[in-house]
Amino acid sequence: MSLLQSTAYQIKNKIISREIKSVDLVSSLFTRIKHVENNIQAFIVTDEKKAIHDAIEIDKRIERGEEVGLLAGIPVAVKDNICTKSLPTTCASKILQNFIPPYDAFIVRRLKEEDAIIIGKTNLDEFAMGSSTENSGFKITRNPWNLECVPGGSSGGSASAVAADVAYMALGSDTGGSIRQPAALCGIVGVKPTYGRVSRYGLVAFGSSLDQIGPLTKDVRDAALLMQVIAGYDSCDSTSVKVPVPDYMEGIESDVKGLRIGIPKEYFATGLKSDVHTVIKDALKVYKRLGVEIIDISLPHTEYAVAVYYIVANAEASSNLARYDGVRYGYRSNNAQGVIDMYSKTRAEGFGNEVKRRIMLGNYALSSGYYDAYYLKASRVRTLIKNDFDAAFEKVDCIMSPTSPVPAFKIGERANNPLEMYLSDIYTIPANLAGIPGISIPCGFSKEHLPIGLQILAKHFEEKKLLQIAYAFERETDFHLKKPPLNVSSLQGA
Ligand code: GLN
Repeated sequence: MSLLQSTAYQIKNKIISREIKSVDLVSSLFTRIKHVENNIQAFIVTDEKKAIHDAIEIDKRIERGEEVGLLAGIPVAVKDNICTKSLPTTCASKILQNFIPPYDAFIVRRLKEEDAIIIGKTNLDEFAMGSSTENSGFKITRNPWNLECVPGGSSGGSASAVAADVAYMALGSDTGGSIRQPAALCGIVGVKPTYGRVSRYGLVAFGSSLDQIGPLTKDVRDAALLMQVIAGYDSCDSTSVKVPVPDYMEGIESDVKGLRIGIPKEYFATGLKSDVHTVIKDALKVYKRLGVEIIDISLPHTEYAVAVYYIVANAEASSNLARYDGVRYGYRSNNAQGVIDMYSKTRAEGFGNEVKRRIMLGNYALSSGYYDAYYLKASRVRTLIKNDFDAAFEKVDCIMSPTSPVPAFKIGERANNPLEMYLSDIYTIPANLAGIPGISIPCGFSKEHLPIGLQILAKHFEEKKLLQIAYAFERETDFHLKKPPLNVSSLQGA
């Protein structure tokens, strides 16, 4: 396996032992970015100069025998809704096109403290609203497995970059599936941590009671490594929870024998594509071979999850996005007459259609006379959905399901049908509503040779267990080692 195809964990050891230089790695990575970026369009901005500069510094420190961080010299990409002091943070929206934040997000600071090299910011659906990255205000990211297909979304740029080996790891955000679904569609690993496990300070808010930042990586070990860096309490995020961070790498090889795995019948119903179903059944056979117990369970309120999510998330979004008014930062319309006209034109010109749709739906759900019927009712049903999980976890250690009902779909196929697009997240949304952690791991391929993801869910703060369960599968299979058919061999450094 070539250096660019290696995992972050493997590379880190080579850098620390001085077998390779971080600067050489970063240079060949940028050569590869230049070759493949035209096809995949994963980045909104890259910063080669700074990356090279940082790599040289790391190499010098290693040469001097100094201690270096957990991500020493590893090139990492960051979703462009996470604030970076030195780089623009646009949320793929025209309204923030030239915005450079005055501070780093907590997790960006953590990356820097652990000596990661931030190579650029990745494309997303505008303000993370979407499941295909087609809602970006700037460009459409493509799936490296088939350039006519979407990479999923909204962290499509991060997923595509990791799958195409132009970033060793990436960060995304997951409000209703935006880490797990693109990870599944691009054949990589994605983790949505427990609500409160990772600080959201500096993550541009979408649905504040749902948003979480998490890793997108080439394998489970790398996900554990990145979790180690980003997890932990932060007083700047009032929803951050003060519970100790375990050592995610330690004991990752633990046996899964005797583990009880719940299979929710509601997740294997209409809408699930038959080859996805077959691949998931095969994955469960691998676990059975490892000695787990498979238990049929029910999560009876699943059918309301998508509706509840689109009320809660949009209500929160309509409030969070009120701040883009052309006054404080970002785009301002320059053909307005008076302040009210300026607000309205700024927002009309700055936001894309999906964002406007959600602001309108959210404001409607919160408006007086409708609040009880929509927002309040949705909040109550949300509790029922959470209760379903609590009851299930009394009987099982984890829950398994497909991550997405379908593999990557064609660009344009769902773009004009918001409802169909919303249904892409039917299996990922409930975990956000309940606040529990989830992981998606590559577990097979469709007939068209597109990756399929297995979702594993566990109780609050049980990320360590999730990683162990996921690793048990990875060790038995080689789906995570498969590479998309981009032309790699002719590239320098590949
Ligand atoms: N696809 C979902 C939505 O459009 C989830 C997005 C996300 O997790 N950021 O709202």
